[in-house]
Amino acid sequence: MKILVTGGAGYIGSHVVKALGEQGHTLLTYDNLSTGNKWAVLYGKLVVADLSDETTLRNVIQDFGPDAVMHFAASIVVPESVANPLKYYRNNTVNTLKLLAAVNENNIHNFIFSSTAAVYGTPDKVPVDEDAPLAPINPYGASKAMNETILKDLSLANSDFRYVALRYFNVAGSDPQNRIGQAYKEATHLITRALKTAKGEFDQLQIFGTDYQTPDGTCIRDYIHVDDLAAAHVLSMNYLADGGKSDVLNCGYGHGYSVKEVVNATRKVVGRDFKVHETGRRPGDPAALVADSSKLRKTLSWVPQYDDLEYIIKTAWSWEQRSS
Ligand code: UDP
Repeated sequence: MKILVTGGAGYIGSHVVKALGEQGHTLLTYDNLSTGNKWAVLYGKLVVADLSDETTLRNVIQDFGPDAVMHFAASIVVPESVANPLKYYRNNTVNTLKLLAAVNENNIHNFIFSSTAAVYGTPDKVPVDEDAPLAPINPYGASKAMNETILKDLSLANSDFRYVALRYFNVAGSDPQNRIGQAYKEATHLITRALKTAKGEFDQLQIFGTDYQTPDGTCIRDYIHVDDLAAAHVLSMNYLADGGKSDVLNCGYGHGYSVKEVVNATRKVVGRDFKVHETGRRPGDPAALVADSSKLRKTLSWVPQYDDLEYIIKTAWSWEQRSS
């Protein structure tokens, strides 16, 4: 198949490009390289452009004529979204709208969307399933929830258009062959920050909040290896190509770890200690987010390969050491 991948030079997008490329698909990555890297695109062509540039976007889509679009390009940092909401509504909501307009005009019928567990806000029930109400507590989650609404309405208006929205939980780890990984210099995510601290890039790791309603007081997240997530995208595309109906699927393993547990696992994997500093809560963080991923497993016959926190950290650590 011919697949257009927005954000294919970024962390998750590049792992999906790798997975699709390994299966022989024809790929075109559309990325502004604001956080992505040219070298991360292991397969297919790269067009460096912004989604807000509607003329380029339309021309690229018309020339390439994709069978499916996978849409990763987005801003993803929760605290930044709280401080700068307009950036999130512009980059995530408005640019997705522009992409969907071009997709619709060109009669492209299969669309895979990077959504997030942040659409749930602080769920009443954990593990959370896809029927839980959407109640985001930060602009990042709100910007993605709006996109899901737009996708749903478009699919209702145009029965040929079908989509899968994948709600990612906490994506971590990297290519076991160490070719690509999290490469954004100002990475804010926990495992990357912990590894950079272990490496000496930071004096200490901050633990944001120790007074949550969780067993050790720190936030609980469901960490999923990026290649297991990439596999879910390939399966989603095959599902749509086989006539599957539009759907929304949680992507996580179904069990979580607290920040302190991640810190301890990181110390164990890297074999060295590093300083942590317990500080106040970070804005926009829910106490616990764990996926009920039974729908993903059932609908797509998804079987995770890397459901092992230490293995996830190990791959991320290999990458951190290489990228220094
Ligand atoms: N976190 C932390 N220190 C850090 C980075 C993150 O304590 O340097 C915490 C954060 O407050 C949250 C959890 O780790 O409770 C996961 O945050 P991350 O930014 O990795 O992902 P998010 O859940 O925000 O998508």
